[in-house]
Amino acid sequence: LKLRTRTLALQELVITDPLTDVYNRRHFWDIVDRELNRARRYDSSLSILLLDADHFKQLNDTYGHACGDTALCELCDLCRDMVRETDFIGRIGGEEFAICLPQTDKEEAEALAERIRQAIETSSLDSQGKQVSYTVSIGVTALRSSDHSADDIIARADTALYDAKEQGRNRVICV
Ligand code: GH3
Ligand code: MG
Ligand code: MG
Repeated sequence: LKLRTRTLALQELVITDPLTDVYNRRHFWDIVDRELNRARRYDSSLSILLLDADHFKQLNDTYGHACGDTALCELCDLCRDMVRETDFIGRIGGEEFAICLPQTDKEEAEALAERIRQAIETSSLDSQGKQVSYTVSIGVTALRSSDHSADDIIARADTALYDAKEQGRNRVICV
């Protein structure tokens, strides 16, 4: 029993991002591949949100790396509070996160992305008595019949995110 408990703890470690406690990149990709196949099999919808913190280098430079770390943790907590029990959150890169939404169409995903964007815009954290706020840009897309893997759907969400950055940041773009 002890060994089994330890094995389970190790398995958790292997799939979890140590800072934010969301899934790491590799495991998130596996989840999207699995959910894509499931969506196909049951003819259900599936959407992806890709979030990137805006001007995050500037936040680090101004308030320190520790404050940046806290912001990333709070960003994940906030997302966790706003999604369903059946959704999945992953850390894709430094200040970039993704959310996989099974049985969710593009319109529902876009509405959720907008709620998350607003919640982050209006939230703030304390850094040695100073109120720190930041924003995120979000790319949204839904599964299409031409998508063969996680790469395909996440790449499209990435183009939407790129457009959100190009158009001025702190916005949701849905493709
Ligand atoms: P943009 O609006 O274009 O996304 O600007 P940006 O500054 O967020 O983007 P850029 O890619 O230039 O910089 C990303 C920054 O995120 C720089 C990097 O130090 C910071 N970052 C990445 N991972 C972490 C982390 O784990 N902790 C902290 N504190 N900062 C991180
Ligand atoms: Mg950024
Ligand atoms: Mg980035």
